[in-house]
Amino acid sequence: MKIVVCVKQVPDTADIKWSENNTLIREGAESVVNPYDLYATETALRIEDSHITAISMGPMQAQKALKEVLAMGVNDAILLSDRYFVGADTAATSNALAAAIKTKLSDFDLILCGQYATDGDTAQTGPSLAQKLGVAVATNVKSIEKVEEDKVIVRKAVDDGTMRLEVKLPAVICMLESDYPVRLPSISGRMKAQDYKIPVLTAGDINIKADYIGFMGSPTQVKKVFHPESKRENKIYDEKTAEEAANLIIEKIRGVDLYE
Ligand code: FAD
Repeated sequence: MKIVVCVKQVPDTADIKWSENNTLIREGAESVVNPYDLYATETALRIEDSHITAISMGPMQAQKALKEVLAMGVNDAILLSDRYFVGADTAATSNALAAAIKTKLSDFDLILCGQYATDGDTAQTGPSLAQKLGVAVATNVKSIEKVEEDKVIVRKAVDDGTMRLEVKLPAVICMLESDYPVRLPSISGRMKAQDYKIPVLTAGDINIKADYIGFMGSPTQVKKVFHPESKRENKIYDEKTAEEAANLIIEKIRGVDLYE
């Protein structure tokens, strides 16, 4: 089975910096693999007889994220990196990923994405990618339970429980936190990843015009990013016992004096 895993590098810090266009400045920031993409990678690695290619769109430093999943056992990796990709919203991101998959990995059976990226957090890229490739999509998936030649059975989270879904291949599966743990890279995996030369593709390499990617291809732009202002006053009740503190809080809430 030919599997593609979409991997996004995200900042590993609260001390993030913004450009004047309200996009994240990723260069120089400490970064990690988006945690949900690790669940996607783990899920791919559990499928027997598969060839897995990880793909990422990002600055050159996103190679580090790709090396991380290569060290876990992924077979190949591709980085899309070009100044024309900069400033992409989810529409432009999925355009670039779809174009790269159509150009370089068109014989895929399954694409695994994270459900969300912890920075942008829109959860739109996976479904948008599926739409652009004209394939099925399943979101909020916790595990792939069965793989057959032309379909997979997935377990997905819904509001009041779980749902078992049969998905026709080829398909995009968006992973939540998986039912199984994510493996740590082995030493031999790390050595293999270190030696692996990741191909870096530009917009020209994937036959996509500048109007469909980056800022030019983005119908949405982030206008402002801010912490909501809280007008509430905080008070800490450090009374002698928890009961005394709880009574004081109840007293405040009720507006009555419990000790009278
Ligand atoms: P999600 O859609 O949450 O990611 C889901 C999965 O898609 C990931 O787990 C991963 O598997 C895959 N994926 C996502 N990006 C990549 C990538 N670059 N390479 C490989 N795989 C990838 N864009 C909008 O269109 N609308 C918005 O409202 C919006 N708000 C934003 C707010 C903030 C604070 C920030 C920082 C960005 C925002 N963006 C928005 C831009 C958005 O982050 C980027 O478009 C980003 O490339 C993809 O969206 P996401 O991070 O929301 O990913």
